[in-house]
Amino acid sequence: MADCVCMNPPFHDADYDTTVIGVDKTSGRFAEVTIETCKRCGSLWLRYCYEIEAFSQSGRWYRGLVTPEVIAELQPEHAPMILAALPWYFYGGSYYQTTGQRGMGAVH
Ligand SMILES: [Zn+2]
Repeated sequence: MADCVCMNPPFHDADYDTTVIGVDKTSGRFAEVTIETCKRCGSLWLRYCYEIEAFSQSGRWYRGLVTPEVIAELQPEHAPMILAALPWYFYGGSYYQTTGQRGMGAVH
């Protein structure tokens, strides 16, 4: 799995089946919460993505490996907590000026 496209940035939407979970409106973020299922290895990625409209270069996303059990009970508002509790996740976007790096800890 470490060699899979889903483990190696940059990531491409075409490699995943995307399921929309909803929008996290906490703090007026309107973050989009989706599950991306890797078409090659079947890994499940929780993706959390938002930008602050008043600011350019504010786009940011986080994506972390999750289990079907986590997804079954997933509420959009819980996504940042779930990501923060993972051993690591990928993050990127215009705000970070990266197409994907590994990180961990709080999401904000
Ligand atoms: Zn994969």
